[in-house]
Amino acid sequence: MGTPSAKPRRPEGITLRHRKGCPADDDRSCRCKPAYQAQVYSPRDRRTIRKSFTSLSEARAWRADTATALRRGTMRPPTRTTLEEAADDWLLAARAGIARTRSGDPYKPSALRSYEEALRTKCPARARNTT
Ligand SMILES: [Zn+2]
Repeated sequence: MGTPSAKPRRPEGITLRHRKGCPADDDRSCRCKPAYQAQVYSPRDRRTIRKSFTSLSEARAWRADTATALRRGTMRPPTRTTLEEAADDWLLAARAGIARTRSGDPYKPSALRSYEEALRTKCPARARNTT
């Protein structure tokens, strides 16, 4: 026959992820529910955004949407804003007089100190760093 057997083309940017221990990894038939991991590269951020889906169509849709949003600049990769970082931002703003009390007054230094104290006791990692 001689016709080269064309391998089914994998959808670009989407990889099939089998669960741990699935026989498919040894070329046997799949016994898990694999996830479809879509990935889009963001040149501006020099990083790849990945997300897993249970269906190929969802993965494709997400990938298309994300690629479009990145091109238009309407989407940024998710940044890791921890509670701790948010608290830091707030404290800085409060100290600078940007964050105000409900009545519109700047926070009193004593009030800020007690907030910091509260943060320290809630974040053991922070306490280690600051003492
Ligand atoms: Zn599998």
